[in-house]
Amino acid sequence: MRRLIFSLCLLAFSTTIVLAQQYDLVLEGGRVMDPATGLDAVRNVGIRDGKIIRISSEALSGRRVIHSDGLVVAPGFIDLHQHGQELESQRVKALDGVTTALELEIGVPDVAQFLRVKEGHSLIHYGTAASHAAARALVFGAPLPAEPAKNHPGIPEILPKSGPATDQSATPEQIGAIRSRLRAELDAGALAIGMGLSYTPGASRLEVIDMFRLAAGRRLPVYTHARGPGKVQPGIEAVSEVIGAAAITGASLHIVHINSTCLRDSLECLSMIEGARARGLDVTTEAYPYIAGMTSINSALFNPGWQETLGISYGELVLPDTGEHLTKERFDELHNSSTSRSVLIFANTQEVVDKIIPHPLVMIASDGAEGHPRNAGTYSRVLAQCVREKGTLILMDALRKMTLMPAEMLERSTPAARQKGRLQEGADADIVVFDAATIRDQATFKKPMEPSVGVRYLLVGGTVLVDEGKIVPDVFPGRALVGPGKASSGKGL
Ligand SMILES: [Zn+2]
Repeated sequence: MRRLIFSLCLLAFSTTIVLAQQYDLVLEGGRVMDPATGLDAVRNVGIRDGKIIRISSEALSGRRVIHSDGLVVAPGFIDLHQHGQELESQRVKALDGVTTALELEIGVPDVAQFLRVKEGHSLIHYGTAASHAAARALVFGAPLPAEPAKNHPGIPEILPKSGPATDQSATPEQIGAIRSRLRAELDAGALAIGMGLSYTPGASRLEVIDMFRLAAGRRLPVYTHARGPGKVQPGIEAVSEVIGAAAITGASLHIVHINSTCLRDSLECLSMIEGARARGLDVTTEAYPYIAGMTSINSALFNPGWQETLGISYGELVLPDTGEHLTKERFDELHNSSTSRSVLIFANTQEVVDKIIPHPLVMIASDGAEGHPRNAGTYSRVLAQCVREKGTLILMDALRKMTLMPAEMLERSTPAARQKGRLQEGADADIVVFDAATIRDQATFKKPMEPSVGVRYLLVGGTVLVDEGKIVPDVFPGRALVGPGKASSGKGL
């Protein structure tokens, strides 16, 4: 009898322990902000098995409790446009509040290989588009390497060197072969078709429409760096072309970095997107908060005519590692080289950037890679400059541009995105906890990999990746986001 009472007591005691530690982790007393519902209040957040289980003003208990008083608790930022996928870039992204960073502008040359290499080795969530530029290069007999180049800072080798594969028009047979390659890449798990049209000036209008048709048939979006050339109004012409292709085919369209595509015409380009949306087209866009861009110097973006398109000359091209401003001779040498090298392009003004970032249609995306401060500083910079210093954005709207808007864009590719970009019960526990009073970017053009300050904690799928402002070593909680092709190993078009 005594033993029975003892056992019952033990049972009651252990039940109490279980109840007392109901959650793996509790974020206690933070300012919880969810752009989807408008919730902006002090709450406790209970997390279990990688999910947000409870959001409550009542006390919650967990195996670990993080006191978040005075800190903002928001959905982790989703970067739709990130080239640097290696660990160094992922570390600075995490310290900038990013929990998901996707290569959707161009896409990688080999989707299956990319997903294989990243599995179990990624700090934050990842995914990619199928690359039209790489498919084209393959069909023209100049395939891009599947393995990203080691010890090569800057844009990974996703861009073909300027040459026949970028500049020549494709025959109908070649267009058919490009379509076949893209179908296979979508089957391998790509989230979209990525079209770097500035990098394939030989692609005809019909080739572009054909690729949009393929995306529409798969009910997947096209992400595009719209075409460069155009003598009169390059950005306006480029945006007209892709909005036209979306209207003709019905494909969803995301125009990347409207700031660097349209430069001084950016507000006009935004009004074109507004018009297209008002007519029922699914067109979205994004921008990064810097006056310079960066790309490969030997790419077709620098084919003859680039000065007119960008409104700049050699001196506005700067090598990120040395700070060297180019001359005509140096430009010719680097542009003609078979070795890819990144170059900063100073072509925009702060005035334009300040008008674009607060625009309600514009999501924040970094276009990040080593060599440009946008890799490390994009999100903190918007929070510091636009929200705190200039007052051009309220915090909730800034967060919407970094979380809910990109998550909703991603829902066109995968239903898994419905659990992202939200601070709600049932959502994935991808969470950033930051100090709104001190968060700021520290990366500069001279020191582009300087991490941002102010992100105190970052949770990726419930795993703590940033703890008291520092990266936790030896955890790799990043998971792949894949398109429907992989899930169904689909046939289709
Ligand atoms: Zn681009």
